[in-house]
Amino acid sequence: MIPNKTACLRCIVPKGVEEESPIPIIGVTAGLLGILQATEAIKFLGGLKTNLIGKLLIIDLLSMSFDIIKIENDEECKKRCQVVSISIS
Ligand SMILES: [Zn+2]
Repeated sequence: MIPNKTACLRCIVPKGVEEESPIPIIGVTAGLLGILQATEAIKFLGGLKTNLIGKLLIIDLLSMSFDIIKIENDEECKKRCQVVSISIS
């Protein structure tokens, strides 16, 4: 997510998510997702092309499937969000 440029979590889930009891995950899931997020952040900060800007990576490790879908900014969300832009130089 790039503030004021790409869709945010609220664009995807406008009503938010209900807090439920914790869902157990296999430990490697968090590690894998962390590595993927760090990789995308390093690519972005290094000025390299990333395929995930404006997209959502959906991972199902049970079936070992990876899908990428395009997500659009919600116009109502743009009006509500008062996110301050981050300038990287
Ligand atoms: Zn949004």
